[in-house]
Amino acid sequence: MYAGFIREIDSVGRIVIPMQLRKELGLLDPGSKLELFCDGKQIVAKKAVKDCVFCGSSEELIELDGKYICRACLDKLKGE
Ligand SMILES: [Zn+2]
Repeated sequence: MYAGFIREIDSVGRIVIPMQLRKELGLLDPGSKLELFCDGKQIVAKKAVKDCVFCGSSEELIELDGKYICRACLDKLKGE
């Protein structure tokens, strides 16, 4: 018995994410990004959002080596 959508993985590892799920998460635009990771024996896919590595804010982000820090945390680090 399956509780979710069943999708077949193609020869290069791709799957199609059901439209219903893409609509729910706002992942309809080409280039929308998913973050994938393992949790035990599960693969978890979540909408990739940019947020500060320190506080989780998504406001006024500055990118540094692929990670993000918000202006407020940057100011704290600078002692301001
Ligand atoms: Zn922050």
